[in-house]
Parts: sequence; C-alpha cells; structure tokens
Amino acid sequence: MKVAKFGGSSLASAQQLEKVFNIVKSDNERRFVIVSAPGKRSADDTKVTDALIKYYKNYTANHDVTADQNWIINRYKAMVDELGLSNKILDDIALAIASLATLPKEGNEFLYDTFLAAGEDNNAKLIAYFFRQRGLDAKYIHPEEAGIIVTGEPGNAQLLTSSYNALQKLRDSEEILVIPGFFGVTVDGQICTFSRGGSDITGAIVAAGVKADIYENFTDVDGIFAAHPGVVDQPHSIPELTYREMRELAYGGFSVLHDEALIPAYRGKVPIVIKNTNNPDHPGTTIVLESPKKDQPVVGVSGDDKFVSINISKYMMNREVGFGRKVLQILEDLNIRFEHMPTGIDDLSVVVRERELSPIKEQEIIDQLTRKLEVDHVDIERDLSIIMIVGENMKNHVGVAATATFALAKEEINLVMISQGASEVSVMFVVKTSDEKAAVRALYRAFFN
Ligand code: ASP
Repeated sequence: MKVAKFGGSSLASAQQLEKVFNIVKSDNERRFVIVSAPGKRSADDTKVTDALIKYYKNYTANHDVTADQNWIINRYKAMVDELGLSNKILDDIALAIASLATLPKEGNEFLYDTFLAAGEDNNAKLIAYFFRQRGLDAKYIHPEEAGIIVTGEPGNAQLLTSSYNALQKLRDSEEILVIPGFFGVTVDGQICTFSRGGSDITGAIVAAGVKADIYENFTDVDGIFAAHPGVVDQPHSIPELTYREMRELAYGGFSVLHDEALIPAYRGKVPIVIKNTNNPDHPGTTIVLESPKKDQPVVGVSGDDKFVSINISKYMMNREVGFGRKVLQILEDLNIRFEHMPTGIDDLSVVVRERELSPIKEQEIIDQLTRKLEVDHVDIERDLSIIMIVGENMKNHVGVAATATFALAKEEINLVMISQGASEVSVMFVVKTSDEKAAVRALYRAFFN
C-alpha cells in the first residue's frame, strides 16, 4: 500500500492534475493521496497559499477583499473549466473561500492558519471530485475526520501521537482517500497548520499511521540531486539515501523535502521515494533506514550561506572550568540558537545563523564576554558558508577528508574551520561565502568525477 503526496507545482493546473490522475490510476496500491494547495504555474505566478496570506492581511486590516477572493476562486475555476467539471464543485469552493471573510477577527488565534489551510482543503475537494468524475472511487476526507489531531501552536503544529490509532483505521477504507496536507485540528477543533511546506509532514504522518509500504513524495524534479543544480551543471539524482544522510543534506540547504517529514516516516519505518510528477518513470530517490554498503563514501555535497562566527580567545581558556557553558549561557539568555562550536586550546568559535543576531544582540554578546568572562579578544566574522560532504559510508573509507581538502586547495579555497561529528556522517567546512560555489563544484568533481 502506498501513500502518494503531490506538491503545489504538481497541482498548479488542469494539465498537471491530468498527470496526477494518471499516476494514481496506474497503480492500485496508491490508496492515499495527500495534496498541497495549487502552486505556481510559472516563475512569476503566485502560490495559492501566498494569495491566502494577502487575503488574510487585507481582511484583518479591514480592507476590501473582493479582489483577493476573486483571484483565489479563479485559480480553482480555471482548473474546473479546463477539466470540464461541473460548476457544483466550484460553487462549494467559492463559498468556502468567501466565508473566510466572515470569521471573527478578535481573539481568534487560529484565524491565520484557517485562511492558509483553505488552499489545501479546497484543492483536496476539487481533486477528489475530479478523480470520481474520471471513474476512480475517490473520497475527500478532512484531517479532523482522518484523525490528524495536533498541538495548538499556530503555524507550528505538532502531531499528538495518539492520532496514529485513528489513522490506522483508515487502512480499511474501500475508497482512495484524498486528504489535504499542511494542517491538522486541535483537540478543541481549531485548524492549526504545520510550518510552511508542511504538506510533506501530513504525507509522512499518514504513511506512518496507515503503515504504508512506501511514502511517495511527488515533486517537479527527478529526486534528490547530489549537489544543487543551480551550482553544479546537471548533477546526478541520488538513487538511494539513508534518513541520516537526508537529514544532513537538508540541514545543508537541500530543500526538496520538509525536514520534519522525516520524523514520522523514520519512526514508522516507511521508506520515502521522491519522484517527479512530470517524469514518473524515473525511479527518483529512495530514502531508507539503512543502506547496504556502497562503494561511494560520499552521496552528496551541500552548501549554505548566511552563517556568522563569534570568535573568542582567552589565554588559558582550556583550564577554566565552565567557560564553554558560560558562553552558551549568554547566548541562551538572548534566545540565540547556535549551530557549531569548533574549539582550539585557548580559543572557541560559536557559529550561528545570521538571522539569529541583531546589532543590539551582538553588542550585548561582546559586552558580556568582555565584562563577565574577561576574554582577551572577541570578534564577529561574517559572510561565511557551510559546505558539507555527506555519506554514512565515509566511516569505512580512508582519505575522504584528504580528497576533499586537496580539491579545495587546488581551487585555492581557504578553510576557515573544519569539523566532523563522531558519527562520521558528514564533514563540514566553513569557507567565505565568496568561495561557496567554487567549493561545492570542486567537491562534486572530486567525488563524482
Ligand atoms: N501550501 C503550503 C505552503 O505553501 C504547504 C505545502 O505546500 O506543503 O507552505
């Protein structure tokens, strides 16, 4: 049994919906279909979710929302017309979109989420209707009825694990169930969304809940590439990855799959396959729990920018008990998340994402380090990128770091920092952002020729 999730670009137009229909119809193991809201039809188009944000803003600012409502309804209408569906389904959708502007504004914590969720909810209704018209025994089902019950943190819902019992009952459904992605319902019946891009999470939850054999995640690329195609010319698609490798690559900026979607699928031991709606015969990338030994030590190379390093030095730092804790305490008090902490004997760097800092916070860090910890020197180094080579099999190979540093040296790239965790799933290099692309290309060439 398979759970198939389709992303926004796979559902942006009637032509795309035809492809989705053919994919679902061609394999009767595809019993659950999770859908996003309609995405962009072209680079300068607007995603329905983003149009809903605009609609919400105008509504809460007491502006006229007619244009927003019409734009969104027309997105669905174009698909209804082109697919030759009856106006009944469009009337339902139009009513649902328009009635968002009757919801109470005051003290309504979940209003924003309710607006956003309408993108997926109405798309699921449309798709189930379309499938039925084409002779597939399909049924729309609301997340509440499916049993996707979540915590009440707006925009960042977390599944209540008790939901899995309810979800398991869906296994017995005779019909193909079409479920809107991206949101669940709180115990009080409020709509609460996952974080942006969260339809992937719904797919993983349903796959784990119904104990699917495979979770197919359909997008618009042939799987996960071994490097970013905007940086490396035509990188290959990775046939198989482990969850840990995927997590490391996602951290390094690979954004094909929402990182929270890995958790339920991992716990439920369901392999994920990333496939292309526009090229469904391509095998795509399979994410598995454990991979048999591979010859290749490295599966992918990632690069991500906008990192900053707080560099601290103090003579005899290594002898001072609790020094590291005190540094981190200063960051914690300012609510700053840190990413890495490479150390020397008398120096220590804390690498954070640029967005975690502000001029005021920076000044506070410098003041406290100087005053409370009496450091000899502190500076904030900007414009840094993190490059990672990832592969669980690195631990069985000698000379991986040598190959990498040789390739970087040949390009005359200076390494600001190097770090490898004990698990040896990845090696991280910090470089100047101006060197990032050259570094990724050099590493790709070195490991994949
Ligand atoms: N439509 C939502 C978003 O744009 C969720 C998703 O597509 O997965 O973030």
